[in-house]
Amino acid sequence: MGAAAAPVAPAAEAMSGSTTPMTAVVQLEDIHKIYDSGEVQVHAVRGISLDINAGEFIAIMGASGSGKSTLMNLLGCLDRPTKGHYRLGGIDVSNLNANELADIRNQRLGFVFQGYNLLARTTALENVELPTLYSKRRLSTREMEARALHCLDIVGLSQRAGHFPSQLSGGQQQRVAIARALVNEPQILLADEPTGNLDSKTSAEVMGVFQKLNDAGITIVMVTHELDIARYCKRNLIIRDGRVVSDIQVADRTVAEVEIKKLQEAEAAAKLTA
Ligand code: ADP
Ligand code: MG
Repeated sequence: MGAAAAPVAPAAEAMSGSTTPMTAVVQLEDIHKIYDSGEVQVHAVRGISLDINAGEFIAIMGASGSGKSTLMNLLGCLDRPTKGHYRLGGIDVSNLNANELADIRNQRLGFVFQGYNLLARTTALENVELPTLYSKRRLSTREMEARALHCLDIVGLSQRAGHFPSQLSGGQQQRVAIARALVNEPQILLADEPTGNLDSKTSAEVMGVFQKLNDAGITIVMVTHELDIARYCKRNLIIRDGRVVSDIQVADRTVAEVEIKKLQEAEAAAKLTA
């Protein structure tokens, strides 16, 4: 696949504003976000400029309160910047109204959350189908189901299509949530602390799903405060007080398949000595 093989522009070059070979899917230009509750103003994002090219896999890191979720909400068109410009796929979304933002979200973005956010009384398949109801493309019931099943298959859960969330483990629920995020064929997946509720082996499995999707060409931006999770990504961004303080390419990134094997071997060895 051509897109996956294309080299990712070095972050430093993207930051310097020199001509980059590819058009960035995300272009942030001096973005600010000020929460104003009347009495207090919180300047949560203080002038972030950032290009993200197709095929990148970025972890946004930083201490609690540094502005990670605010930045993700802006990237996800869930909120508008107080100042600055945001171009998504070449479209300036900074000044779109709520309906226009909702359309952009449904067409271009997929969301994964820390707490999975699945509907409890709804099967895995129905949970995954749900976003197709809001899709611009009108699909028949059969098409919706086929597409949802295909996405469950991508995350390795087609056997569990009829299960309810309570019948699935945390890792499985997160994989259902990833399938749901994929169902409208987004260009970008946005994930806020997707492994925050998971143990290290399950986290490795979920990161393996993200790596597979990224290899297939999907751009991924995720927030994490765990360094070992960030090492599965290709690029790491550190935010402090609403500003980018570090932006590096990961030199020797963790490969989920290798990590899972290591964890399995460690588990087996522990059983032998028990
Ligand atoms: P992080 O995700 O890195 O923990 P946030 O983006 O949630 O950080 O928060 C950044 C800053 O903005 C914090 O000081 C937080 O208290 C403030 N903040 C976040 N959301 C709101 C909001 N809706 N209203 C007012 N202040 C907010
Ligand atoms: Mg947060």
